[in-house]
Amino acid sequence: MGKRVVVIGGGPGGYVAAIRAAQLGAAVTLAEKDKFGGTCLNAGCIPTKVLSHSAGLYTEMKNKGPLMGIFADNLRFDWAALMKRKNDVVNYLAGGVAGLLQSNGVERVAGEARLAANGAVEAGGRIIEADAIIIATGSEPAVPPIPGAVPNQDDVITSDGALSLDALPRSIAIAGGGVIGMEFASIFASFGVEVTVIEMLPRVLPNIDAEIADILRCSLESKGVVFYTNARLNSAARGANGLTLNVAAETGAVELVADKLLIATGRRPRTQNIGLESLGVATEHGRIAVNERMETSVKNVYAVGDCASHILLAHVASREGEVAAENIMGHGTVMDYKTVPSAIYTSPAAASVGLSDGDARKAGHRVRVGRFPLAANGKSVVTGDTGGMVKIVSDDRYGEVLGVHIVGGPAIDMIGEGGLAIRLEATLDEIVSTIRAHPTVGEALGEAALASWGKAVHLPPARQRQGG
Ligand code: FAD
Repeated sequence: MGKRVVVIGGGPGGYVAAIRAAQLGAAVTLAEKDKFGGTCLNAGCIPTKVLSHSAGLYTEMKNKGPLMGIFADNLRFDWAALMKRKNDVVNYLAGGVAGLLQSNGVERVAGEARLAANGAVEAGGRIIEADAIIIATGSEPAVPPIPGAVPNQDDVITSDGALSLDALPRSIAIAGGGVIGMEFASIFASFGVEVTVIEMLPRVLPNIDAEIADILRCSLESKGVVFYTNARLNSAARGANGLTLNVAAETGAVELVADKLLIATGRRPRTQNIGLESLGVATEHGRIAVNERMETSVKNVYAVGDCASHILLAHVASREGEVAAENIMGHGTVMDYKTVPSAIYTSPAAASVGLSDGDARKAGHRVRVGRFPLAANGKSVVTGDTGGMVKIVSDDRYGEVLGVHIVGGPAIDMIGEGGLAIRLEATLDEIVSTIRAHPTVGEALGEAALASWGKAVHLPPARQRQGG
């Protein structure tokens, strides 16, 4: 008999681990207490992107339609229809995950699971023996203790509530200017909701290249979003006009009024009540501690995804799941975080991979930066997406590409080329000499590389900001 592998949690970490282990010959059982597909499919990546896609389409039609010679009288949206489509897309993809698990021979157990002993998991009312266990229990919203701001499925909500609103509020305040907060700000603002973002740090999107984050903030401001940075939400109180929010802002105390408050202040690993203590599985900063092979402190127990990772992204969870499964099945695989892309589905969208120029400098590189504005890219002019740019960070010694940052146009679909360049240790020369189809936004990558030396073709020399 092959190895018996039990996976706890059916999100993108767990279900991908289950499929990879089954592909490699294991007898796999996957336990899920809620819905297969996890947060990403049911309450995260997919439903938010259905809404942001509709928001983008609506904005395009409204703002760019006439420019393109298209006039839609009475352009309007129907929130209920939009939510129905969101549910349809989720259900369609959930069916796909179920089918894949079945066709790979993965046994599915519906119910809460916990570690029963080393080599056994209790799930669905029975004990399942295992040669290896993969914990993939994910994360949940982290809600700071702010008086009056306890999520209640009504006027104070988390992302779960924001994805199941019956109707759009007139106004919403969002606590947290990270990726989730900014994506919701963009969706709501596109549909005419008055949005205010309250962020404790000096800038929104603190983990993204500062220039890119600034461009996104300005573009959301142009849609009417109001930002308070260096600001702390101190309390919320209910009144006749909705919620009154007391904010300690840079300029002093501010009182905001909003119909709803969305708490988007981060997520915390889900590690309670799964039996970690009974087996002595070590945790670190609330996460399950793992090494680069996704092994925990206990032999044959692995952990992947949001419950263990320092980067809470679906594609990281899935890769970690593959790494764990491959190690269990005797393939020595290690996790490499160097080419993990970040994507922000605002409109315009942004994506990033590798180092920002600031981080590259801190890491001791002799940094060279090339920027190319999408206003000078033919395809972007065709589509009317001229507000963004491509920025390439490289090391001046050999021209090795260290980071690629894109805002505007198909930024997110383009970032894979940046990741591949970094993975293959490509140089600026290699980026430049790779011929791209014309007209495409991808051509801006080659131009940004050329701009690193002040040699972009479609930009006057005086406009080529290179160096640092
Ligand atoms: P999860 O997807 O959380 O899955 C864990 C599963 O384990 C859950 O289904 C849970 O029910 C189950 N479970 C927990 N405990 C038990 C137990 N004891 N027994 C059985 N089952 C259990 N990431 C991106 O890469 N791109 C995006 O665009 C993106 N957008 C997001 C938008 C929002 C609003 C949110 C909240 C998140 C978003 N993320 C995005 C993050 C992404 O959803 C997570 O990183 C990803 O889901 C993590 O996968 P996971 O498998 O580790 O955990």
